[in-house]
Amino acid sequence: MEIVIQGLSKIYPNGNKALEDIDLSIGTGIFGLLGPNGAGKSSLMRILVTLMRPSTGRVTVNGMDLQKHRGEIRRLLGYLPQDFRYFPKLRTSEFLDYMASLSGMRQRRRRREAIDRILEEVGLFEARDKMASKLSGGMKRRLGIAQALIHEPKILVVDEPTTGLDPEERIRFRNLLSDISTGEVIIILSTHIVGDISSTCNHMTLLNKGRVAFTGSPEELIQKARGYVWQIRANDEEYIRINEKFPVISTVPGKEGWLMQVVSRSPEGYDAEPVEPNLEHAYVHFMENVLQEKVEEEAYG
Ligand code: ADP
Repeated sequence: MEIVIQGLSKIYPNGNKALEDIDLSIGTGIFGLLGPNGAGKSSLMRILVTLMRPSTGRVTVNGMDLQKHRGEIRRLLGYLPQDFRYFPKLRTSEFLDYMASLSGMRQRRRRREAIDRILEEVGLFEARDKMASKLSGGMKRRLGIAQALIHEPKILVVDEPTTGLDPEERIRFRNLLSDISTGEVIIILSTHIVGDISSTCNHMTLLNKGRVAFTGSPEELIQKARGYVWQIRANDEEYIRINEKFPVISTVPGKEGWLMQVVSRSPEGYDAEPVEPNLEHAYVHFMENVLQEKVEEEAYG
């Protein structure tokens, strides 16, 4: 499976530019789409699942043009939107039965088999007779994945699936995605939560203001932050100055004063030592420094 995106832009009727000249190639496995709110993630997802047309550019799935082969490509797609709606008065299995019918599964027996399989897979078998409204937040999200997977799609698109989940449910959900990804499928995971990417993806793109700011592995992004993350021991007065001067990633009260992790080229004049960056550090570094410098270069030459 391969999705190729070329020169894709989206301008909404009110003039909002949501995507600008996106080029991406997405293969099997979990592909992470990371970016702050408003970066254009949902717009890109909605184009990929054929709910919206791009203003310019082209998307192909295994060489098939998304616009010309909508029907065929839709059958390959499963989608968990950000605002996933279930029917509160239906039981878990009834809801899945309804979704299976919509996906074109006519035979009752086939539907029942598919539902049992998927309930097991997402860990909701015990909750099959529960009303959807009585499920916990994490279970509802897993029901969302179940409905997206019921027809065994080859491409699964999940938009901000872990937002609002508690840590245990979030980990369970990430593990579920990793389990699903062992097949020959593409999973596109859009998120603004860095931990979702670091724990599941081997390929990622950083979107910022509708443009691709980085594409590669999380490891490559981390590599770019090496030498830019520091831990500083600060007193109360320094604490204020550091907050004004550097992007601060974390602040922990120490024995005396504060232990602060910051992104900086070189925090001269402070009691600082370098820290091995993680993806969260790299994300802050990239957004604060790399992109800022690019803007300044463009503005001042
Ligand atoms: P994200 O999912 O990363 O938060 P979105 O794709 O939702 O980003 O939004 C990208 C940009 O497009 C934002 O500036 C947003 O305000 C704008 N936008 C999104 N949907 C619409 C719409 N239906 N009409 C006009 N502007 C929109």
